[in-house]
Amino acid sequence: MKFQRLRLLGFKSFCEPADFLIEPGLTGVVGPNGCGKSNLVEALRWVMGESSYKNMRGSGMDDVIFSGGGSRPARNLAEVSLLLDNSERLAPAAFNDSESIEVTRRIEREQGSVYRINGREVRARDVQLLFADASTGARSPALVRQGQIGEIISAKPQARRRILEEAAGVAGLHSRRHEAELR
Ligand code: ATP
Ligand code: MG
Repeated sequence: MKFQRLRLLGFKSFCEPADFLIEPGLTGVVGPNGCGKSNLVEALRWVMGESSYKNMRGSGMDDVIFSGGGSRPARNLAEVSLLLDNSERLAPAAFNDSESIEVTRRIEREQGSVYRINGREVRARDVQLLFADASTGARSPALVRQGQIGEIISAKPQARRRILEEAAGVAGLHSRRHEAELR
């Protein structure tokens, strides 16, 4: 599944609606310090189900909502949508009947997040599994944070195994087994 478009509204420094088209090939994001490059990658991680606000450089999940700046007042909600190309029909069965898949996460102050896939409200888990199967996802080694290379080198064997499993595409299966064992 390929990313086609990332849409942000009120997410971190992106107060105004912003669309980023992700064309085939290599995409680079350039700009001066503090212009929002890392925020963009965090938006990607967030819509894929990131549950740790610390991984989003915040002290609470509401910190992803635009907090005001310049002459603009703070907002009360943030929304990120990710459009995926599903023409190869690689999505889980429940969502595999359409050419493209739109995953949306929305947060309102003090209300937590709501996720939707193609307009239908789903659990965070459904979104996380969708991306775990596609070997991307919020914790995927496809997204490399600053300092992460060092973390991988000094990781304990179990943590390093998790990285290999994600790369091998079996993370979704492990996750489902864990969920089934809890029931
Ligand atoms: P660098 O080149 O230094 O890595 P960058 O382009 O990656 O910079 P980011 O870290 O993405 O920059 O953006 C930082 C900016 O985002 C800061 O100016 C910060 O104030 C702003 N910012 C972060 N969260 C919010 C928020 N909730 N509301 C408004 N602005 C925010
Ligand atoms: Mg940065």
